[in-house]
Amino acid sequence: APAAPSNFLRHVIETDLEQGTYDSRRWGGGPGDGPFHQAGMPDPAKIRTRFPPEPNGYLHIGHAKSIWLNFELAREYGGVCHLRFDDTNPEKEEQEYVDSIREAIRWMGYSTALADVPTQPGAAQDHIYYASNYFDFMYRAAEHLVTAGHAYVDEQTPEQMRANRGDFGTPGTDSPFRSRTPEENLVRLRQMKNGELPDGAAVLRAKIDMASPNINLRDPTLYRIRRATHHNTGDQWCIYPMYTFAHPIEDALEQITHSICTLEFEDQRPFYDWLMARLIEGGLLTAPPPRQYEFARLNVTHVITSKRKLRQLVEEGHVDGWDDPRMPTLAGLRRRGYTPEALKLFCERSGTTKSGGAWTEYAALEAALRDALDPVAPRAMAVLDPLALEITNWDATLGAGHLEPCHAPVNPHDESAGQRHFTFGKRLWIEREDFQAVPEKGYRRLYPPHTNASKQAIDGNKVRLKYGYVVQCTGFEQDADGKVTKVLAEVLPDTKSGTPGADSVKVKGVIGWVGAHDAVPAEIRLYERLFKTEQPGSADTIADELNDASLSTVQGYVEAGLAGSAAETNYQFERLGYFVVDAKGSAVGRLVFNRTSGLKDSWGK
Ligand code: ATP
Ligand code: MG
Ligand code: MG
Repeated sequence: APAAPSNFLRHVIETDLEQGTYDSRRWGGGPGDGPFHQAGMPDPAKIRTRFPPEPNGYLHIGHAKSIWLNFELAREYGGVCHLRFDDTNPEKEEQEYVDSIREAIRWMGYSTALADVPTQPGAAQDHIYYASNYFDFMYRAAEHLVTAGHAYVDEQTPEQMRANRGDFGTPGTDSPFRSRTPEENLVRLRQMKNGELPDGAAVLRAKIDMASPNINLRDPTLYRIRRATHHNTGDQWCIYPMYTFAHPIEDALEQITHSICTLEFEDQRPFYDWLMARLIEGGLLTAPPPRQYEFARLNVTHVITSKRKLRQLVEEGHVDGWDDPRMPTLAGLRRRGYTPEALKLFCERSGTTKSGGAWTEYAALEAALRDALDPVAPRAMAVLDPLALEITNWDATLGAGHLEPCHAPVNPHDESAGQRHFTFGKRLWIEREDFQAVPEKGYRRLYPPHTNASKQAIDGNKVRLKYGYVVQCTGFEQDADGKVTKVLAEVLPDTKSGTPGADSVKVKGVIGWVGAHDAVPAEIRLYERLFKTEQPGSADTIADELNDASLSTVQGYVEAGLAGSAAETNYQFERLGYFVVDAKGSAVGRLVFNRTSGLKDSWGK
């Protein structure tokens, strides 16, 4: 079963379920019959959470935490989670962002379908909520607050408003417009709405307490005038609601029970509750209202989790788009080879707490990746820095042109995954680092016969070519620059892995290889961390913090069976790490792999 969140939020939800806090909720008669309710929507008394992104960028690893938390809590308690686009800013339509967000959630394995709607062929199962669909209701709520004496139109300049707001420890000063009558305010609000006042000339403010120790309660702004075309409502509105006013209403209209957000919004909660209470009093909403809960946002070392700064990386060309495999966006992590299971495991392990701001180590992300992939990823041999190895006695020992069948488990933890098959022959590729012409002390892999520093004659070394034979190095060839071009060796014929004689010769080294006759050439992209700084994003210029060596590309070879691998297939290349077939670069006859991570934590070094 998928991992369930274990945190303080479960306790809150379980208490609400025990006490039947939301049992009285019904569709009909209340706001549920508002602009969005559709027949077949799940029982409003169920637990209902939401994930409310602003469609102004791609989702990142921090959002994954919020997605995981909200969808898993809803699932665990038999409720639903809404995907809601918080599109109350009249920014131009960013369809690319909307599409990428929907795709990221689908990829994470979460459904936004209306749970109780029967599946019909061709039926739109994917239900999306848009905050901008509630603009009419929000405006009605604003008029109600004005009429009830809870809001006023303020015509101070922005500078005056800022000065009169006071500061921490200093009470604010009432606006001269604060004592307007409800009748005057209603006329003025309608003038705002009807386009009779220029942009910025006035705002609607809640009338709460200019001396409140919580600055968010010092008459927060509810509406501003802004002539801008909205992607959904076009030019219908020239006033737009502020996030703090809009968000609680969105939650209430969708019958959200638990509105989960990050800690920055803790100081906004008293206003959230104030607004809900005023609208319930006025009969615009029915009790019980949704409640807001805050948790500590996810920060990961060496990673930026700010859409604005991620956009900067893209726009300044430091990376190759939002889905560059070095980006901490979900699109980037996906291309890098992260799987939904790995991200969910990481989210679970990172913990969900009420306080914090602690940083999670990047190594924990890689550890989750390895733990998620190790039991399932098929194994393969690959050579990233190929050096030719020729078995000089092959023809005489096994026969000219002979190819010896070899096999290996697809996944050693999973017998049912079966065996993979490849062949051993006269010419192979090995890693360049698996040969040393003059071996350093303690080197156990291939080296030729030589005389050591004490003038002793040393035999060429014997190693096992994994799943194949033991070979003994007899020499090597080099070019004019002294670069080794070929290693020469002899096979020890009765030593093939899995045969009775396999262990007759003891060796100290085992190395990987692929057959030159059948290995598949591949481009392999070796990624390193994008930032050299541990907590990037604080320097004046992002470019100063970038790791110049975050990508190097090599031409290598992979095991024959990998020809034609599907995009996004995750492999463990033995001894090398986890690699994924790049979804963009690969094509028929052209394999491109991205290194997802090494086999061990290399971040501490
Ligand atoms: P950014 O600062 O990157 O623009 P945001 O919070 O403004 O992020 P939204 O689109 O409003 O972006 O985020 C949608 C949801 O994701 C919000 O509920 C927000 O609390 C949550 N979220 C964003 N970043 C993180 C994070 N680092 N950890 C946990 N949740 C996050
Ligand atoms: Mg936001
Ligand atoms: Mg933000």
